Amino acid sequence: MTSTGTETITTGRPDLRTDDGDHERFAHFAERDKVTEAMVMGTPVIALCGKVWVPSRDPKKYPVCPECQRLYDLGAEGRMEEWKARQES
Ligand SMILES: [Zn+2]
Repeated sequence: MTSTGTETITTGRPDLRTDDGDHERFAHFAERDKVTEAMVMGTPVIALCGKVWVPSRDPKKYPVCPECQRLYDLGAEGRMEEWKARQES
């Protein structure tokens, strides 16, 4: 009899609990498609603010990243301007 059959079901979701790193303490904004995929796969995405983070399935637990909020409020065009300016400077 094997006992490995029922107990070894994993979700494939790595447990990325970090003690340092503030990116785990904010809910960032990123492309919705990417976030959805990331939540399923447990892979990191690049947020609007440039942080690489693994989206939480419960973002309401975290305060919204102020930088992401600001960039989000700028809208797509505003973000493009900002990113362009950032690259040039
Ligand atoms: Zn952010």
